[in-house]
Amino acid sequence: MRCTRCILPDSIPGISFDEKGVCNFCNDNFPNYNPKGDDFLQKILREGLRENSGADCLVGLSGGKDSTYTLLKLKEQFGMRVEAFTYIHEGTTGFSLENAKKVCNQFSIKHHIVSLKNEAHLKTFHGYFKAFSKSPSSTTAGMTCVACKNLHILGYDIAAERNIPFIVWSTSPLEYSPFLALKYNGGEKEQFKREGNVKGAYLLLKEMVNSFDFPKTFLTNLKTSLNGCLAAFPTSGYLLKKYPDISPLFFYEYHNWVPDDIIEYITQNSDWRVPEEIDDWHSDCLFNFFKEYMFLHLYKASYTDAFLSNQIRYGLISREEAIIKLNKNKKQNKEGIFRAIESLGLNDLQKRIDSTVFTEY
Ligand SMILES: [Zn+2]
Repeated sequence: MRCTRCILPDSIPGISFDEKGVCNFCNDNFPNYNPKGDDFLQKILREGLRENSGADCLVGLSGGKDSTYTLLKLKEQFGMRVEAFTYIHEGTTGFSLENAKKVCNQFSIKHHIVSLKNEAHLKTFHGYFKAFSKSPSSTTAGMTCVACKNLHILGYDIAAERNIPFIVWSTSPLEYSPFLALKYNGGEKEQFKREGNVKGAYLLLKEMVNSFDFPKTFLTNLKTSLNGCLAAFPTSGYLLKKYPDISPLFFYEYHNWVPDDIIEYITQNSDWRVPEEIDDWHSDCLFNFFKEYMFLHLYKASYTDAFLSNQIRYGLISREEAIIKLNKNKKQNKEGIFRAIESLGLNDLQKRIDSTVFTEY
C-alpha cells in the first residue's frame, strides 16, 4: 500500500496512515521547506568577507544542475568571487565532470578537482556492497557511500589553504528522505535530527558484530571509512572543530529550489547541457544505481520515492507525474546497475543483484 497523496509505501520505517490513507509525512508537510531568502544569504556572505582570501566562497560543484546554478548565481547575481571544487572517483560519469569544467572555463572560475588516492573510493564501495549482499542492513548500505563523505574534508582543506571563509553546498532540503541518515522529528524546530557520534558508533559496532565482511572492509579501508564517518555532513562537529574559520552554507536553505527554473537559467546562461540518457538527479555517480538498489531491497522504496514525494507535497509535480518518473527511474536503474558493474569492472557483483527489486509500481 502507498500513501494516497504522496507515493511512500507502508514498507518504510516510521510511516503511519490516517483513515484517508494519507501518511504522517504528508500530514506533517515534510520537510517543512521555507527558504530564508537571498537577502539573508547575501548578508551572511557580506559580513564574512575577508581580505587576503583566494575567493569569497568555495562551491562544491558536482556538475549537476543544482550546484551549477548555485555557482552561477553567486558569481553573476551576488557578485561574489567564487572558486569551485569537484570531487571525482571511479564512478564519476564523464558528462557531469565535462559540464563542471565547461562552466568554470566559460566564466573563468578557478576549478579544483580532487579525489582519493589508490582507488580508495572504488575499493571501499566494493567491500561494503559485498557485505550488504551477504547481510543487508541500512548501516551497511549507508557505508557504501562513506568514501564520498571524504569530499567534505577535501573541500575544507582547499578553503583552509586559500583562506576562503565559506563553502557553499547545493543539497536541496527537498532531497531529504524522512527515513535513513536523517531522522525526521516531526517537530517545528530542529526538524532533522542527525545521528550523533554515539549513536553512529553504536550502529557501526552492531554491524561489526553481525557481519564478517563489514569489519573486514572497515579495517582494510580504515582511513577512508573513519574520515567519512567523522565528516558525514558538512556541518559535522569534527569538521567545525577542525576548521573553525570556515563556515558551511547551504544555498537552497536560502534560495527557493525550483528545478525547472534552475535548468532554464543554466541552459540559457551557460554552456551546461542536460544529461542525455538518464534522469538528472544523481546522474553524476555510477554508485547511485547500487544505492537505489539497496534501499529498494530493504524498504521497497529508495531516495527517489522520498524525493518525488517531497516534490508532490511542495506542488512541484503531481502524484501521476511522480509515478511515471518513479517507474522510469526503476527501469533506468535496472539497466544502469548492470552497465555500472561492467564499467567499474566489478563483475563478481553480477550474480549478487536481484533485479526483481526494480519491478514497476
Ligand atoms: Zn504521503
